Order: sequence, then C-alpha cells, then structure tokens
Amino acid sequence: MSIWSPLRGHAEQKEMFRRTIRRNRLSQAYLFVGPSGIGKRKFAQLLAHALLCQNPGEDPLEACGQCAGCKPFLAGAHPDFLAVGCPEGKRELPIALLLGPEERRGQEGLCHDLSLAPLPGSRKVAIVDDADTMNDASANAFLKTLEEPPERAILILIASNLDALLSTIRSRCQLVRFSPLETEDIRAMLIEQQLAQSDDDVNFAAALSEGSLTTATQLLEPELRELRTLLYRQLAQVSFSGLGLAKSLLEGIGKISSETSVQRINAQWLIRFLVEFFRMAVWQIGQGPTESVPFSAEVSQFVNRLMTQSDDVEVVGGLIERCVEAAVHVDQNVAVPLVLESLCQDLSRLLRLAAPTH
Ligand SMILES: [Zn+2]
Repeated sequence: MSIWSPLRGHAEQKEMFRRTIRRNRLSQAYLFVGPSGIGKRKFAQLLAHALLCQNPGEDPLEACGQCAGCKPFLAGAHPDFLAVGCPEGKRELPIALLLGPEERRGQEGLCHDLSLAPLPGSRKVAIVDDADTMNDASANAFLKTLEEPPERAILILIASNLDALLSTIRSRCQLVRFSPLETEDIRAMLIEQQLAQSDDDVNFAAALSEGSLTTATQLLEPELRELRTLLYRQLAQVSFSGLGLAKSLLEGIGKISSETSVQRINAQWLIRFLVEFFRMAVWQIGQGPTESVPFSAEVSQFVNRLMTQSDDVEVVGGLIERCVEAAVHVDQNVAVPLVLESLCQDLSRLLRLAAPTH
C-alpha cells in the first residue's frame, strides 16, 4: 500500500517531487503555500518519510516501512526529522521553538537541531508549519538558517498567507503552490473520517468547504449546525418574525464565542447558509423537487409555500441580493447585531410581500 493513500489530490505536486528526486535536484528549502485544511502538512510529512527511507523502491516517493529510517519515523522518533508549528490557541510561532528558550538561546530549538549532523546515510528534514505566523524577530533569526542551510538538510515551510511572510524568506525558498481539494474529495474524507452525521451534512459541508477539510469540519461543529437547522426550519415556514429570528441567531453566535472577530466569521457563515438555502430553492423551482439537493424537505416546503403570483425565481433572487448586501456590511465592520436584525426583518418583509396569504 502506498504511504500516500491517506492524502487526496495534489497529484501534480507529487509528480514534481518524484521527478526532482529522480534527477537528484532537490532544493534545500521549499515553501508550501495554499489555503488551510487541504493537506499541505500531510504532504510535507509524507515527503519527509519518503526522503528518510533508506530503502526506497522504484518510486522515490514511496517508503519501505521497514528500514532503519522508516521504523523510527513511523514511531514518531526519527532524530533527523524535525517539525514545529504554531501551538493551538496561539497567534504566533514561538521563537523558542526555533532558537531555544531565552536562557538557552541558540543551544536548542529547530535551528540548532538542524545544524547537528544527520545519522550516517540519512539527511535532515525539517517542517516549519504556520511559517506565516512567525513574527519579525523569529523570521529574521530563521533567515540565518535559510541563508546557510546545513549540509544534507531540507527545509519545508508551510503557509496559507504568502503576504504575511518576509520577502527575504520567500525569495530563499522554492515555492510550491497547493490548490483547494475537489468537492468530491472533501465529501469522501468527511465520510471516511466519520465527521458528518447525515448525507445532507456531508453534501452541504462539502459544497461550502471551498476545498478545505478544515472549513468543512468547522461547518459541522454542533453549534453552527444547530443554528443552520433553526434557520432552515424558519425559512421553510416562509412567514416568520424577523426580529425573533435575529434574536435566536444572535444568541446562538454569542454562545459560540463572545469575541467580536469570531462573531463576525460566524455571522458570515449564517449569511452563507441563507444564500445556499435560496440557491437550492432556485434550483428546485427550475428542476422540480430533487433529492440531490441537501435539505430538500425544508427547501421543498419553502418553495411550495412561496407560490407567488409573480416570478418565484425573481423573488428568491431578491432575497439572495439582500443577503449579499448584508455580507458586505459585515465585511465593512458594521455591528453584527445591526446587520442580522435588519437582514432578518427585510427577508421576513420581502417574503410577506411575495406570499401575502401566509
Ligand atoms: Zn524505509
């Protein structure tokens, strides 16, 4: 079995490394860039494994799993494999991970460990995940290692935001761009890793994930999922109190986090949920009821109750436009309660005008 089977996508990047290793043309420093949650770190780890295998097969990206390189690597204890990243909950990659704690600066940490000679027949491979969270002091210190990388060492930096990296760091690495995953891959991963509770959840989270498993997983967090259910049930009724709905939504995102920045992100998700719902409704108006659409029961109910004399698609188009406007307001830092209250009230009013009998 291939060591690469847990990874989906990124065939082009694999092929590039396969060719490079065959030609013995590996660079000393790579910079992996692409959205978060698409498998860049997994890719780097598998590449490191392949590079540390002392008995690779015909495909240089495969590892034997048995040799003096593979066994310690698989046990998470290969002395020539180094990896650091931004710890969970922190905003910056701590300089101590690169240079050692203050009292032992330069005597510990990734840069120091990298300068030690590898085991015979081996090379050093270091992964610096979240490289875009290094502050200037860390980045400048790290630059010294990049400028004069130790012999037989390969550095892999990983970042999702290229602009947040010092240009001096960028220019010393070979850039490898990673693209978002296919929706189909996300769907398969959600099922394989049992991250979703229903087919609707799988399809919905995959469709909104923008090719990132991290995003798909966030969308399935219970609190956000609950809010989406609440929202869709209300919409299915067509007639609802705008203020009442806004109040429930605001309470919901307030419970998830009291931080304004997180509330903004979640407000944007709620607006995306609305847009998705209306898009599914437009689809259903055009195609008739279909089970391929997630939440088809709620969407069908909405479409059936709407039945306006005017053009339904036009009505729903107007609702989508109003949602897009609200998303812009959130981006422009308008207070979240204000945006959601006026959005819910407008949606309720537009629906009342379109379907006056309800
Ligand atoms: Zn091996």
